[in-house]
Amino acid sequence: MRKAWENHIRKVVPYVPGEQPKETNIIKLNTNENPYPPAPGVLQALKELDTELLRRYPDPAASELVNAIAEFYGLDEAQVFVGVGSDDVLAMAFLTCFNSRKPILFPDITYSFYDVWADLFRIPYETQPLDSDFQIRTEDYMRENGGIIFPNPNAPTGILKPIDEIEEIIRANTDVIVIVDEAYIDFGGKSAIPLLKTYDNLLIAQTFSKSRSLAGMRIGFLLGNPKLIRYVNDCKYSFNSYTMSQAAIRLGTEAIRDRAYFGQCTKKLIETREWAKVEFQKLGFTFADSMSNFVFVTHPDYAAEELFAALKEKGIYVRHFKKPERIRNYLRITIGTREEMEALFACLKQKIIIDR
Ligand SMILES: *Cc1c(COP(=O)(O)O)cnc(C)c1O
Repeated sequence: MRKAWENHIRKVVPYVPGEQPKETNIIKLNTNENPYPPAPGVLQALKELDTELLRRYPDPAASELVNAIAEFYGLDEAQVFVGVGSDDVLAMAFLTCFNSRKPILFPDITYSFYDVWADLFRIPYETQPLDSDFQIRTEDYMRENGGIIFPNPNAPTGILKPIDEIEEIIRANTDVIVIVDEAYIDFGGKSAIPLLKTYDNLLIAQTFSKSRSLAGMRIGFLLGNPKLIRYVNDCKYSFNSYTMSQAAIRLGTEAIRDRAYFGQCTKKLIETREWAKVEFQKLGFTFADSMSNFVFVTHPDYAAEELFAALKEKGIYVRHFKKPERIRNYLRITIGTREEMEALFACLKQKIIIDR
């Protein structure tokens, strides 16, 4: 029976993250984590972490990390906001930026957290359908709205939108905030960061979870103009002053300082992705040309659900979204190490060639 107090509870349908299985000897290609360890300096800093500092509250501004990010991108510290993964900074950005009665716009097939935050914060929204090739159509973002958000490259399609089309959307919407979620931009895409010079309505979100191998540390950040970043900070300080742990500040700083290691890892991953595309093609899969650390594939003769189950049985985890209907027959497969991908293809060959 429904209790009287339940009438005044905020009810939401939560986001469902990918599985994090407890078994250790599996090949995990389901949540777009980086297959390589974090930079050597991160492991060193972890060993040297001053436990005396754990007794104290961390720096609420996380200045060490903010400065390191600003330095990496050649921006001012006042243009950087950090949080507990980009999920945290995006939620804070929604709360800060999307307060219009007009609906915010985002694609119908995209990161499935956007509609969850919109519902949580009671933000009206309208989804814009991707075209038949899963492309975001620029003209859909030229109508009246209360703000815009989309990932570039988009998830789970992996498709990169050219930077001039991104600029077109930002230029046509200077009365609202346009958030570009660049979770996967380091895998070969062109960032919108240079556009920050021209447009004060642009907010960019990035994360340490994918290209910097620190999903477990929970670090994300926003880049924007100082005034907008100040507004986001005001909301953050009205919610939780100490979002970044001492460990996250220290290890994140070491991660972003090592440009060479970052370059090597992303280069290796891109090479594996391009090789994997050829292998998928040989097996008869079709997919959009991904510029991220995953490929979104479908096969004309095999149901995605069936392939998902066959892979899982062999201890290989990939992601299958049951909704929306249009992507039901697709699998989103994270690019792992070359060895992990070889195991994946061996298993797929078993199913597709030998079973035939
Ligand atoms: C992974 C991902 C995020 C969130 O990553 P965090 O681990 O919270 O930093 C945000 N947006 C997109 C599109 C993602 O794929």
